[in-house]
Amino acid sequence: MSIFERPVHDCIETLSEEYGIYLKPTSHIQSMEIFSKNEKAVIEGPLGFTNIRGREQDSFDSQLARQTKSTIHYHSEYTYEELLSKHSHVVMATGDGEYAKKTKNYREDLTVTIKGAIIEGSFDPYLVKAWLNYDIAPFGYCYFIPLSDHEANISLAIPDLPENANVNLDSLWDLFYEKVRAEFNQKIRITDQFQITRYPMGICRSARIGNTFYVGNCFGTMMPFMGFGQYASILSGVYAAYDLCGLGKYEELMKPLRRSYEDSLILRRSMEQLSNKKIGSNRSCDAK
Ligand SMILES: Cc1cc2nc3c(=O)[nH]c(=O)nc-3n(C[C@H](O)[C@H](O)[C@H](O)COP(=O)(O)OP(=O)(O)OC[C@H]3O[C@@H](n4cnc5c(N)ncnc54)[C@H](O)[C@@H]3O)c2cc1C
Repeated sequence: MSIFERPVHDCIETLSEEYGIYLKPTSHIQSMEIFSKNEKAVIEGPLGFTNIRGREQDSFDSQLARQTKSTIHYHSEYTYEELLSKHSHVVMATGDGEYAKKTKNYREDLTVTIKGAIIEGSFDPYLVKAWLNYDIAPFGYCYFIPLSDHEANISLAIPDLPENANVNLDSLWDLFYEKVRAEFNQKIRITDQFQITRYPMGICRSARIGNTFYVGNCFGTMMPFMGFGQYASILSGVYAAYDLCGLGKYEELMKPLRRSYEDSLILRRSMEQLSNKKIGSNRSCDAK
């Protein structure tokens, strides 16, 4: 969602124009429907992009792998400590805060639990949907993101707050799945499912310690408000490379992303003060 990357308006364009990284998204997002318990808002315009992650041929991961000239060592079993003793610099980019935490350079602010599925049906690839309904996802959200005109990802994410200690994720999922089915009013089939429990969100205390660069989620590029982090993660990789090439100081270059993280954390904490009553207005909103 471009709105989270201001002043940048088009992440894909900026990555190619400014940094020479060419990514082909699955689709652009032209319309977003947001549902509260009783209301619906529609936002239209060039809102961002959808993309696939993982091992698929068209995923961002595969696209980046094809563009890199360096050798990728799969199934590496080196520890950080072993790499540190063997190489002049280490870029820590393992995708979550665990290693940064182990090196005592991480402030964990929250953890989230996510349940998701791939569904089959007939979808508009340019339209995404989100639910801010605390009956289904208390203090969190649900979303629908099409992967094509016949496949989509649906997910439910809730923060692991004390208030959520007794919620039954499977029951929430059933409610959400019912909403999705009602929304599309067509035969929908789940083809794959996943669950991530207690995924840590936080930020490192120092972007660089000695010759180790904390990059991506090891830095804290996943923004706590809605869990977005791909663009900031790529940017952090570019900034680490700039520092290695003597083109800038990583800690300095990362300052705007650190600020974004802290701002996003404030939005997340505000969400935790809300209720269904405060989220839904008493009239329909059509924000074109
Ligand atoms: C369910 C979910 C949904 C999300 N949705 C969005 C979204 O809609 N939009 C958005 O912008 N962001 C989203 N994010 C956040 C985004 O995916 C991350 O912020 C971003 O991918 C972080 O990039 P990264 O490079 O730090 O980690 P990753 O993209 O996770 O990459 C880390 C890589 O390191 C590899 N690795 C791990 N350990 C080692 C090791 N010891 N040695 C070598 N390699 C290792 C992993 O296999 C992986 O390939 C989502 C995250 C999750 C979990």
